Formats: sequence, structure tokens, C-alpha cells
Amino acid sequence: MPALERGATRFAPTPTGRLHLGNARTALLSWLAAAATGRRNVLRVEDLDPAAMPEGCMAEQLADLAWLGLTWDEGPAEGGPVGPYRQSERSALYAEALQALNALGVLYPCWCSRREVREASRAPHASDEGPVYAGTCRPSAPTVWPDLTALPRRRGRVPALRLDVAAALARLGVAGPFRFGDLAAGPQAVDLAAAMGDFVVRRTDGIAAYQVACSVDDAYMGCDLVVRGADLLASAARQLLILRLLGLPEPAYAHVGLVLAPDGTRLAKRDGAIALATLREAGEDPGAVRARLAASAGLPATGDLAALVAAFRVEGLSADSVRLPA
Ligand code: GLU
Repeated sequence: MPALERGATRFAPTPTGRLHLGNARTALLSWLAAAATGRRNVLRVEDLDPAAMPEGCMAEQLADLAWLGLTWDEGPAEGGPVGPYRQSERSALYAEALQALNALGVLYPCWCSRREVREASRAPHASDEGPVYAGTCRPSAPTVWPDLTALPRRRGRVPALRLDVAAALARLGVAGPFRFGDLAAGPQAVDLAAAMGDFVVRRTDGIAAYQVACSVDDAYMGCDLVVRGADLLASAARQLLILRLLGLPEPAYAHVGLVLAPDGTRLAKRDGAIALATLREAGEDPGAVRARLAASAGLPATGDLAALVAAFRVEGLSADSVRLPA
């Protein structure tokens, strides 16, 4: 682990589309949290599967953030002591983390197809991330696999790797719900096995899953405060589980409210109308956009970053959604 003098917050976009107002609100709040608390402001690009991401998307997102007036102490363009800052360049670190989890006997290969997972699931509507895995491939006793890079095929299939949640909780001595605090959403208690089940930590194509990459990166990049959208609250429990198993430092989380469309539905990257790029092309003033976003978070309605830093309080962050005016 690199020794860092100061903690950090981070904004960690996945470059699959243009940033919208919801992303911008989270980026602004994360940025303000760092500036107001003397932390480093890190930009991390979550391009785990670059082949699935449109060409040039990262550059467009970086340009949108620059237009919004947010600059970074560390990031893909800035560099920094704990780089690289693109997940596509950090796969060796994730492979090491998977090895360490394997040594604890909490991983197993899974040969099920998506369809089989769906059909065997006990709770098909469990989460927006898909069905809870029924445990079809789970071994009867915790197993350490001799070589994660040479797992056998079955029915011609290369396996994914899953984390055995019950074995992991037993290792950590957790009985009952998994508890953690959230600075914006309050105390949480999650029945990990029932709500999420054994989740994928490495995909069949060998790419580490988001839960692994994100938790490992937060720890290695010294991100001790994570301000991100409330849609990721369900991920926090899994990420904390991974961090605890690996003995890595845990960040404090603040899952902030999402921006909803005027009709109350969730903003999606495809809603071009509220993409930062659209506002920018329409000649909107970025300071006015900052002021709108700040006001939506209970801060003064000003685009002046110094004034916002002075007014910002981590305790003022809220997990309540905000609706865009019609
Ligand atoms: N890359 C994720 C996204 O764009 C965010 C991950 C995080 O902040 O932990 O939704």
C-alpha cells in the first residue's frame, strides 16, 4: 500500500456515454467534499472493459468535467502517485486481490450461463443487477483453487468466479445482517446472502468485476471518503465485504441522492437533453449549472466554487433524490 499524506475523494465515471446532470451533481459534491476537508481530489476512469466503451468517450467526459470547472489533483491526464488512474491499466492489481481472496477459500468457479442463473434463481426480482444466484456451482466446502488462470472448462465453457458470501461472512465472524454506516443514507443492515447472493468477482472473459476493481482502487488510491450516487448503496456492502476480507482500509461512504427527470423517472445517459454536452452546446453558463446543482443539494445557489467550499458540510449530504424542474 502506498503511503499517502492525505486522504482523498474520487469521482469514478464509466465511459459509456456523455455525463448528465446527475453525474455532474455527484462529481460536484465529491469535489467539494475533498476541497472542504483537505483531501485529494481524484478522477478515476472505470473503463474495466474498454472494448465495450465507445471510442473517445473518456475524452468527452473529461472535457465535460473541465467545462463544469472541476479540476483534479490526480487523474489520467494529471498523473499522480497512485496511478494509473484508468482501471483498464490496473488489471494486475485486481488479479492479485483475486488470488488473495482465493487463498481464503471464498471463491469458486461458476459455469452457469446467464439463462441458467435466471432460471435457478429463488428471487428473480431481487435487485436491478439481476437475479440472486442459487448457488448451483458452489462447492460443499471452502476450496482454494490451485491456479485461477487455469480453471477447467465445463460443457465447453470458461467459468466466471463468484464470491461465496456465506463462507466470507463466516470467515469474518459476521452472523446476521451485514452492518455499515453511510454519512448520507444513515445506518444500513443488509442480509447479503438473501439480497445479493454469491456475486461475480471475475467475468468469464477474465476481467475483474466492478465490485473488486472499485474496492481495491479506493483502498490503494487512499480514497477514505466516497461520495457517489445512491444507486450504488447496494454495492457498498459487497465492497466492504471484499475490503474486510483483504484487510484493506474501508472508506466512509456518502451515497447522495439521484437526479430524477421531471416525471420522477431516473435520468439515463441516453437523455440527451440534460447531458452536460447539450447544455454546453446550447451556450449555458457552467457557473449557472454549478449554482443549480449546488442549490439542489441545500448549498447556496452560487457557481462560485470558493463560496461553495466554504459552505459545504459532509454532514449536510443527503441521500434523498432531487427532481429536475419540468
Ligand atoms: N463507475 C461507476 C458509474 O459510473 C461509479 C462507481 C463508483 O462511484 O463507485 O456509475
